[in-house]
Amino acid sequence: MEQGRLPTRVMVVKSGEEDSPTVMEAGAVLRAGGLVAFPTETVYGLGASALDEQAVAGIFKAKGRPTDNPLIVHIDSFASLGQYFQRVPERARLLAAHFWPGPLTLVLRDDNRFPAVVSGGLGTVAVRVPAHPVALALLRAAGVPVAAPSANASGRPSPTTAAHVLDDLDGRIDLVLDGGPAGLGVESTVLDLTGEQPVILRPGGVTPRQLEALLGPVKLDPAVNGAAGDEKPRSPGMKYTHYAPQAPVMLFDGNDSARMAKRILAEAERLAVRGQRVGILACRDNESMYQGKGYAVVTTGWRDEPGTIAAALYESLRCFDRQSVDAILAEGVSTEGLGLAVMNRLLRAAGGNVVKI
Ligand code: AMP
Ligand code: MG
Repeated sequence: MEQGRLPTRVMVVKSGEEDSPTVMEAGAVLRAGGLVAFPTETVYGLGASALDEQAVAGIFKAKGRPTDNPLIVHIDSFASLGQYFQRVPERARLLAAHFWPGPLTLVLRDDNRFPAVVSGGLGTVAVRVPAHPVALALLRAAGVPVAAPSANASGRPSPTTAAHVLDDLDGRIDLVLDGGPAGLGVESTVLDLTGEQPVILRPGGVTPRQLEALLGPVKLDPAVNGAAGDEKPRSPGMKYTHYAPQAPVMLFDGNDSARMAKRILAEAERLAVRGQRVGILACRDNESMYQGKGYAVVTTGWRDEPGTIAAALYESLRCFDRQSVDAILAEGVSTEGLGLAVMNRLLRAAGGNVVKI
């Protein structure tokens, strides 16, 4: 926490106790223009009333977020959408019926119901209904739509626990609702519905295959598989190096996991000889290959179960900060299913430092 600031209040919300005075109080803090971090089924969000320009400006300030990176507006149900958008496209109706509440964010045409700071003046607004019971109870208690990016300091790995939120934002926000670890571990899929064909701007909890089963062909924005610094991604958040731990990350990308381990070990040795403390981010399958050699080995999940990797990803990246490593060598994964979102985050954490094998 920074000097001269009051510590952030933490209030625990137990499962089954979402309709409690605690959550009512948090809703009142939001209505009054305060900043409240809360669990969602993806990661922890940092909320402010989406109707309150000053409160939303506070999110950018607390996170150190560039103001051209717009926020996702969270609402409590599909039924509320009509209050903020004149024409709700048929595709949005269909998607909401299948995936809301859930990790799918829809980008719709802006009808100027929110202050420009919410959408970064893009002419579109991103909106979703989160599936976490605490998030839903908070939205109902607040009685206002809530703009909420991930509750991390800008550029850092997203928070999946209340402790992660405090690591980055203690003293900079009013309140954290602690509802235990966020389940999914990666953010929502951001889907642009403003053009003729739907476009995935950010891969996330809902996979391209799930979307295509409903909509037919869906495009992937070229920035999804590229690194930070690509020209003009349509989701501004995608242009920054992001999700990054303190030490530089080198990402190894390929399908042959034994070969990958060999390449990582060779690079680790090269760095260790130069006196660097090396961290290795490994899938559980390969863990034993790296152990007993003096490296800081952090494991995520199983290679063929990308959901287990997604759930552990951000905690694993933050773990390297606590171990003060100088460099991180990260195993890439297949882009099947949730693997697409995992690889997208790792690409950004690596800032384009990718070794193809
Ligand atoms: P965060 O909630 O921190 O994961 O960030 C929200 C993400 O949604 C960022 O990558 C934003 O660039 C993206 N986003 C929010 N609003 C829009 C919008 N209107 N159009 C395109 N992308 C958006
Ligand atoms: Mg974020």
